[in-house]
Amino acid sequence: MRVPLMTAREVIVVGGGLVGALVAFTLRQAGADVLVLDAGRRGAAWRAAAGLLTPDGEGLTGTALHAEALDSLRRWPALVAALDRASGQPVFYREGVRRQQAGGGEAVTPGEARLHPPSVVRAARAGAEVRRAQVLALHPGPRGVTVVADAGGWTAQTVVLAAGVWSAAFGVTVRPVQGQALLLESPADVGAVYGPPTRGFSRYALSRPDGVYVGATARASWATTPDPHAARWLRGVAGQLVPGVTAPVQTRLVGLRPVTPDGMPLVAPHPGLPGVLVATGHGRHGALLAPATAARVLALVQAGVPA
Ligand SMILES: Cc1cc2nc3c(=O)[nH]c(=O)nc-3n(C[C@H](O)[C@H](O)[C@H](O)COP(=O)(O)OP(=O)(O)OC[C@H]3O[C@@H](n4cnc5c(N)ncnc54)[C@H](O)[C@@H]3O)c2cc1C
Repeated sequence: MRVPLMTAREVIVVGGGLVGALVAFTLRQAGADVLVLDAGRRGAAWRAAAGLLTPDGEGLTGTALHAEALDSLRRWPALVAALDRASGQPVFYREGVRRQQAGGGEAVTPGEARLHPPSVVRAARAGAEVRRAQVLALHPGPRGVTVVADAGGWTAQTVVLAAGVWSAAFGVTVRPVQGQALLLESPADVGAVYGPPTRGFSRYALSRPDGVYVGATARASWATTPDPHAARWLRGVAGQLVPGVTAPVQTRLVGLRPVTPDGMPLVAPHPGLPGVLVATGHGRHGALLAPATAARVLALVQAGVPA
């Protein structure tokens, strides 16, 4: 395939989801020249994500992710302020997430919060150069990395591969864990609440600017259409967590969480493509972990990615 090459860039970010958009924002804040290419994939996780920033709510205490999750959680308030300032588009962010306890009563961990992922992505993309393009191939060479996309071709000193589960097409071992959720048309403010833990599933409800969000299912699948079984289960969750809720369903959300074999995010030079950094595999914690990932990518770019 012959593709006309456009101007060489300092950094190209492949994928403008929660991770890619915040990586690009952080690099731009540090003065880098950045181009974001996003394919607008159906099933992108950020469009379906709840936006809970809850290391305790997600049971991360005692796991290998806990320290990074706490570090990332602490970064969010300053990042929200920077996004608001730079974009002029307020990002919805609220502290306070309740957890119902198995034996009754509720717990709240100070600092845990929630946000609205689509407004984060929109604010992070605002002012950046973002092109609608599906990247098809990455070719490292002596003058940088050539990016071949359906909408054209570019070269860059460094490419950050942040295409979520679709990073699998570029030699990264990552698989989809599909999640479904409901967005109810309710103006009621239910705050944010987790139900008691059940067999590995998280059940939660939270108010956002676009309605009451109820989540979430998890199964290994590339399917991006909602199914009636999940919708029934989620209606049951809504009934348990928001007593008396009768609001109609506004949207049935489906997203593919990118998961690595060991469940840890992969933020490192690509093992086989010089000049390419990988930032994916955040599973069910991409909103929580994105600020720490963006800081790590910035450090790697500043240190010089092996070419
Ligand atoms: C139902 C559900 C609930 C969730 N709730 C939470 C939560 O409460 N808290 C939390 O921390 N996390 C949550 N997550 C997880 C979070 O959404 C993901 O971890 C996060 O979105 C991953 O970000 P990403 O940018 O790597 O991938 P994505 O968000 O999937 O974005 C990938 C982007 O890459 C683009 N792309 C793909 N292929 C290409 C290509 N070839 N060329 C160019 N662009 C490409 C896509 O269009 C997309 O925009 C949830 C996920 C789901 C599904």
